[in-house]
Amino acid sequence: MSTPRHVAIVGGGLAGAKTAEALRDQGFTGQVSLLAAESHPPYERPPLSKDYLAGGAAFDDAIVHPLSWYRDNDVDLQLGARATGVDAAAHRLHRADGSALDYDKLVLATGSVPRRLPLPGADAAGVLTLRTREDADAIRAHFGDGKHLVVIGGGWIGLEVAATARGAGTAVTVLEAAELPLIGVVGPELAPVFAALHRDHGVDLLLGAQVAAITTEDGAATGVRLADGTVIASDAVVVGVGVAPDLAVAESAGLAIDNGVLVDASLRSSDPDIYAVGDIANHDHPVLGHRVRVEHWATALNQPASAVAALLGQDTVYRELPFFYSDQYDLGLEYIGHAPPGSHDRLVVHGDLEAREFVAFWLREERILAAMNVNVWDVVDKVKPLITNRTRVDPQRLEKLGPDA
Ligand SMILES: Cc1cc2nc3c(=O)[nH]c(=O)nc-3n(C[C@H](O)[C@H](O)[C@H](O)COP(=O)(O)OP(=O)(O)OC[C@H]3O[C@@H](n4cnc5c(N)ncnc54)[C@H](O)[C@@H]3O)c2cc1C
Repeated sequence: MSTPRHVAIVGGGLAGAKTAEALRDQGFTGQVSLLAAESHPPYERPPLSKDYLAGGAAFDDAIVHPLSWYRDNDVDLQLGARATGVDAAAHRLHRADGSALDYDKLVLATGSVPRRLPLPGADAAGVLTLRTREDADAIRAHFGDGKHLVVIGGGWIGLEVAATARGAGTAVTVLEAAELPLIGVVGPELAPVFAALHRDHGVDLLLGAQVAAITTEDGAATGVRLADGTVIASDAVVVGVGVAPDLAVAESAGLAIDNGVLVDASLRSSDPDIYAVGDIANHDHPVLGHRVRVEHWATALNQPASAVAALLGQDTVYRELPFFYSDQYDLGLEYIGHAPPGSHDRLVVHGDLEAREFVAFWLREERILAAMNVNVWDVVDKVKPLITNRTRVDPQRLEKLGPDA
């Protein structure tokens, strides 16, 4: 394979920035262009629901590299530059300003966009989602004593926003359609831990809640109306009902798509000159033995180095297990592996659910699919090889990884 002269990257999030970094780290000396629709240098999003949202951390703490890094490494970072389409046959990218850019290899890292609710009032002022710095600033403006925030959705983002808002003295109502928050991720045995966590911190958590409309006055949200007629007044409504991969550019390139861009174990798409990394990549995972698309920080951080190695001609695959973390109040957790609902035949918990200090293991045929450590640390590195090597484990001996280990 001839060495590419120009690698273009579309998407200025963590995965895009890490792709540029990996190209230079791995000795690529050709041209690197990074097209970023946002006006900020690429930044990490986890602080947007945590320290940055709380007002306790500067935005600059979240940026992946300062602007000087792009200059020093001869990376052509184009801010406010949205790619509108790809002519894959011509190896040409089109930009929103009408100009075009030719590439030899292309890496797509366009990330996700928040899902919206098709509800009356959903377009009103004060109905907010959280993905960007501006979104976080808009939500923070509704924090404080005497303010009331309604959060629709008891997933990771909704719960982190609720925790941060409570920390700022805001009254918070969380509306979750399911019978427990996070039940689809952690299951019915562990989801009560998160319900109790938020109630103990003063969140009004309504479960099985069906939102019928956002109530409005003069075009601004005044609260929500539930299907049973209950009206909850609030200063703003945060909609945290998940995200969808942003596939517009991938679609324009004619790539194979199914719940994200279908990429092989090396993160190469159906077009051999186009790769996809981060939230949009539906990856044929060599360790898990099936496809997985992960909407978490660690994937955006780690996939680019593998994609770049493959793009530069190495025979390489991406083997890292899915990993994520969350912080809510005084609870910190990490989750490693992949155990979607119905995939396990046994859940083993060591520790104390009520004290919110435990390690949970999802097992199938005595092998660990995933583990979650809650307010217990130094677990991930010990569990990772057990999952990766499909090691048969004695569930009792997993205690050694629990809180008193
Ligand atoms: C508030 C919040 C908190 C989070 N907290 C955690 C956490 O605690 N733990 C965890 O593991 N994960 C967390 N995540 C998830 C994590 O941040 C994402 O998985 C990660 O940002 C994905 O990175 P990415 O680079 O693939 O995509 P993104 O971060 O979405 O970046 C994609 C970028 O591409 C740009 N773009 C899109 N289309 C184009 C185009 N056509 N042309 C140019 N640019 C384009 C977008 O504007 C965006 O800037 C959080 C996410 C959010 C929003």
